[in-house]
Amino acid sequence: MKLKFKNRIAFFNTLAAATSTLIVFVAVYFVVFLTAYKHLDDDIRNEQEEVFKNIQIKDGHVSMRKSAEWDEKEHAEVEMNPTFIQITDRTGELVFLSANMKNKYLPFNPSLKKTLFFNNQFECKQIRQGQFPIFNQDGLAIAQLSVGISRAESALVLNNLFLTLLIAFPLLSLIFVWASSFAAAQGIAPIHRLIEAAREIDDQNIGTRLPLPPRHDEIYLLATTINELLLRIDTSFQREKQITADISHELRSPLAGIRGNLEVLLRKRREPEQYELKIEQVLHETDRMNKLLEQLLQLSRMETGNIKPNTEQIALRRFCTSLLEKWETLLAEHQLTVELTIPNETPILADSNLLEVILGNLLSNSLKYGSKGTTLSISWNEPTATLAFADRGQGIPPEHLPHIFDRFYRADVSRNTKIPGTGLGLSIAKKMADLQGIQLSVQSEEGRGTTFFMQFPFKL
Ligand code: ADP
Repeated sequence: MKLKFKNRIAFFNTLAAATSTLIVFVAVYFVVFLTAYKHLDDDIRNEQEEVFKNIQIKDGHVSMRKSAEWDEKEHAEVEMNPTFIQITDRTGELVFLSANMKNKYLPFNPSLKKTLFFNNQFECKQIRQGQFPIFNQDGLAIAQLSVGISRAESALVLNNLFLTLLIAFPLLSLIFVWASSFAAAQGIAPIHRLIEAAREIDDQNIGTRLPLPPRHDEIYLLATTINELLLRIDTSFQREKQITADISHELRSPLAGIRGNLEVLLRKRREPEQYELKIEQVLHETDRMNKLLEQLLQLSRMETGNIKPNTEQIALRRFCTSLLEKWETLLAEHQLTVELTIPNETPILADSNLLEVILGNLLSNSLKYGSKGTTLSISWNEPTATLAFADRGQGIPPEHLPHIFDRFYRADVSRNTKIPGTGLGLSIAKKMADLQGIQLSVQSEEGRGTTFFMQFPFKL
């Protein structure tokens, strides 16, 4: 059944209300039914007690005392609601019959041993009949008393009640349908308002938020959840825009450099040395572009989850020593001495490739921003499982410190213009550290040096 959400709510509400009403109606009918018949049965019992007071048992035979008076007093006339009394002996022979029965018999069971009440017809009248066995002193049923009274009134009341309930039920169901549809429409109106508001939002006005309903209910929760989702989409949208702008900006300068050099070469014939110089500059710019694209690729691989760290046990001292050997020439060119304070037995858990990139980026920065003739200190702090990487370079001004792990961020751009860089190295290092659960942080004092800390997740 393909019902709209609103109609589904209305349908289930109506179903629940109609079922409850039906249960109540059936219960009411049965309570009235049982009460009416209990009253009739009580009346029959009263009559039976009256009769029992007036019967006598002699030699195993039952007879009615003052039978004529009884007849005359209580049952001589055919009343509106007459009481029919009949006594039969063990053989089924009639012992007493009230005068109002005009020699017509009530049906009975001659061998009944227990009191029995049942509905019956007598002379085209609806009656309630009770049959009572009459016992002698030995407990033997020697006769049967049958008492019948009219149940026409009770039947009428029950019939009327049944008809009333039968008509009321469909009418009430119709009212339920209407009321439930109205309530469902009211209930989902705020959802419609949210849908309308959400439809208005596109990439041009992604900063718009859904209006919040006044009550703190589920709709409020839905609206706030959608708003939070919009905020996340908005943020990543802005980030994408920023990244595209940053990338194009970063690519523009090496491209402009290449173009400028080529234009100079084309303008007039040059000496071979000049050609060589310009071509070298062009090559330098293409290297810059290459480095930038490589770093962007690394970042995007990490962001799309394509780099999975392959964590293994690494002997940190040996690892750093072999890394420093690779960098020996460059360190010597920059006249940097390295002081390595890592105990021989320092095992850590990390991905060796990612760790090499992180340390490589820190080393390369120490070369770029460090001061010639100074010492680079790499030390291990056992209690905190932290590797400190300290240079005695120019340092980073405090206002830049919170941003240096951001993509494309370069502290004090004017000062750095002569130092080649993309502003991506530390953001790559940070992401790679995060992937392995390593906490990468920085402390720096302007003019005195910078220390990067790598706190490993746990010691072995
Ligand atoms: P890049 O070095 O390519 O500019 P990074 O992401 O590696 O990019 O570094 C971001 C910025 O942080 C650098 O531009 C520099 O201003 C600052 N920085 C990083 N390392 C150091 C350091 N050891 N000493 C001083 N400044 C540093």
